[in-house]
Amino acid sequence: MSQLFSHINILGTNFTKITNQELLNQLKKDSMLHENRFVVTANPEIVLFARQNKKYASILNTADYTTADGIGIIKGAKILGRPLPERVTGYDTLLSLLKFANEQKKRVFFLGAKPSVINKLIDRIKQNYPNLIIAGHHDGYFKDEASIVQKIKQTSPDFVFVALGFPKQEFFINQYRQSSQAIWMGVGGSFDVLAGITKRAPLFWQKHHIEWLYRLLQEPSRFGRMLALPKYLLLIFRAKIMHN
Ligand code: UDP
Repeated sequence: MSQLFSHINILGTNFTKITNQELLNQLKKDSMLHENRFVVTANPEIVLFARQNKKYASILNTADYTTADGIGIIKGAKILGRPLPERVTGYDTLLSLLKFANEQKKRVFFLGAKPSVINKLIDRIKQNYPNLIIAGHHDGYFKDEASIVQKIKQTSPDFVFVALGFPKQEFFINQYRQSSQAIWMGVGGSFDVLAGITKRAPLFWQKHHIEWLYRLLQEPSRFGRMLALPKYLLLIFRAKIMHN
């Protein structure tokens, strides 16, 4: 965990007290200095998973910055009386970093999503970020992990965006982050959104904190996963009662 910022512990996961702008400024600095950094954007599902899986929990604690990706984390922090400033989502951070990479002609490696999605994504990146250098890309359904890592090593990217979903992406980053002096970030389903395959909730839904509902309506199969939220809130209230 970075010593530059303070941290808030939520049910065992340490969150960085940071705004979107602060994180972006910090990552720009880190990138200019060629620092090796690991960014986690965590939601309630991730917090719950980390409570079940010690290895994953210890990996999360090696991240340099762990942001609150989801209104559940912001609400939980508030209920516990240790508020976090705002939501810092993987998708928004990805967009900001792509803009920066484009301005600075940085090298970016894209790893993850289905083959058709990553190809579409690469077309869009070429169109929308013409000065960014695509160091390499690969879909997220690979068998030969070693060859991918070799490719990352050889192309020495400044940014490695890993869209394998949690917990896979964090396990991958933890294992291989030394292969390039880069900013490494797990971005979940962001490639699908950026490639135009799934839609992000319109602003109205985002502003009213019901982005999760929009996502559920788009992908009803996520219902099971969303049951994590009430379970998480229950644990938050329990923690509050026990520590007050
Ligand atoms: N994915 C992948 N390889 C895998 C499993 C998943 O590349 O072995 C991709 C999947 O295609 C999708 C992303 O990882 O693009 C996971 O998206 P999801 O919305 O589940 O992630 P979340 O943001 O909820 O963690």
